[in-house]
Amino acid sequence: MNNDRINVFLILMAVLGVKVTLLLLFINYLLSNKGELLDIFFVIFNTLSIAILGIIIFSVIVSYSILYRENVNKYLMKINFKLVKAMYPLIINICKFLKISKNDVRNTYIHLNNIYIYSNNYNLNPEDIMILTPHCIQKGSCKHKITNRIQNCIRCKGCDVSDLLDIKEKYKVKVFVATGGTLARKIIKENRPKAIIAVACERDLTSGIQDVEKIPVIGILNERPNGPCLDTKVDIEKIENAINFFLGGV
Ligand code: SF4
Repeated sequence: MNNDRINVFLILMAVLGVKVTLLLLFINYLLSNKGELLDIFFVIFNTLSIAILGIIIFSVIVSYSILYRENVNKYLMKINFKLVKAMYPLIINICKFLKISKNDVRNTYIHLNNIYIYSNNYNLNPEDIMILTPHCIQKGSCKHKITNRIQNCIRCKGCDVSDLLDIKEKYKVKVFVATGGTLARKIIKENRPKAIIAVACERDLTSGIQDVEKIPVIGILNERPNGPCLDTKVDIEKIENAINFFLGGV
């Protein structure tokens, strides 16, 4: 993963910490010498602010260790990922304010998620593993509708759908193509997988990982040689690695 992107994420978390500190100092300044009535509020506010600041500092340190050293205890990773998830909307807002690409943050979010999932052990049956891809992986000019039934693909090798069918047959895993988040949620609800390998862009992967809390998701970014949402591609080797991991083979 690109180190600059990781740095952006950590810097934004640090900015969040600085903002909390400045707010803390500002409120303290406003409330100083305003009488005893405000004393309790003062104490509660300061305690909460310092706790939040401590959480942010903890998360920056743990995220840094995960991203740069990759030898962090998996329970710490789990706690940290929950904290990052809670702070994510604030970090995205800072992104907007500073006009920084949100994809840099999303990329790191996906990376933190994947590292955490890969720190666990699984031994699943193939039928409990679901590969979920967006429909833009299908060649735009293809006449064979695969959204409801991927087997409609005649495997002309014009796009990666053909390879996904090979994977489906080789490993006996489930493969679905979804046209959006609503259909993806419906597919997950109906099929109840125990693990998901999701292929999508940064935005969709991040929201997908956030939506599916109780099922482990490995996120694989799609490749977009023709721009967003058109004739996208996926690294099949990454998918096979993820399948083997969930099968307990890695
Ligand atoms: S491999 Fe060929 S038939 Fe299958 S979805 Fe792609 S373009 Fe269509």
